[in-house]
Amino acid sequence: MKESNHPMIQMQDVSYRYEKENVLEHINMTINEGVFLGIVGPNGSGKSTMLKLMLGLLKVQSGQIKLFGQEIGKFKDWQKIGFVSQKANSFNTGFPATVFEVVASGLTKKIGLFKFMKKEDKQKVLEAIGSVGLIQFKNRNIGELSGGQQQRVFIARALVSDPKLLILDEPTVGVDARHVLSFYGMLENLNKERGITLLLVTHDIGTISDKVTHVACMNKSLHFHGETAEFENLDTNEMSAFYGHDVHILSHEHHHHGGTGQ
Ligand code: ADP
Repeated sequence: MKESNHPMIQMQDVSYRYEKENVLEHINMTINEGVFLGIVGPNGSGKSTMLKLMLGLLKVQSGQIKLFGQEIGKFKDWQKIGFVSQKANSFNTGFPATVFEVVASGLTKKIGLFKFMKKEDKQKVLEAIGSVGLIQFKNRNIGELSGGQQQRVFIARALVSDPKLLILDEPTVGVDARHVLSFYGMLENLNKERGITLLLVTHDIGTISDKVTHVACMNKSLHFHGETAEFENLDTNEMSAFYGHDVHILSHEHHHHGGTGQ
């Protein structure tokens, strides 16, 4: 999907502190409809704090946040925003529910009610399962799936209510290293084919630069926000100074996998 100039999230001079510690400093960032944005930064750089502010889970202390053009305090259309946390897959292991039931719970909010679902709702559930590539597992017990497949189930659960924006916090934490690339590929398809705006937080700047359209780099303040190609042209020394250690921005410096063709 093409980036439009409809802002979905606007942060204006946003700062945040826990007790004495400043965690976010003067963040200005506009996230437009259509992008697949990767937000990267080292551990403790304030990424989760920023997401919590965007999701209304923390109160804005200074500056302003707008969602879909509306001041966050007045925003009511929360079904437009889907959220999948890194801990999504820790609640379920051993829980006796099928992929279909877990995804359906994103609509009904209650596992079990799926038996009484309308036909079109069942169709939505199947579509969501299909768009994360798990249709052949729809009747499997979620406990039997791999960490990466479980994470896809939780993405489908967030998709079933048809969000415009999907926010993911470190979604590859439970994903086997061999499957990370195809996991990001699945997200890329959601962006390109379903037209969902994606915001993904990660500390892994390597793999992600192949897939995302935009990158934001933060360490309490925002160091960079722009298109991926521009990010890849940044000076490696500059980035090392930012991270405080050696970094290799370009994953395809080490292993070629065909590039993105852009
Ligand atoms: P990241 O997601 O980039 O790892 P966080 O937003 O989780 O960063 O944390 C940023 C900083 O804020 C860290 O130094 C962390 O210790 C601190 N922090 C996070 N949550 C709290 C909290 N609830 N109370 C106090 N300090 C916190």
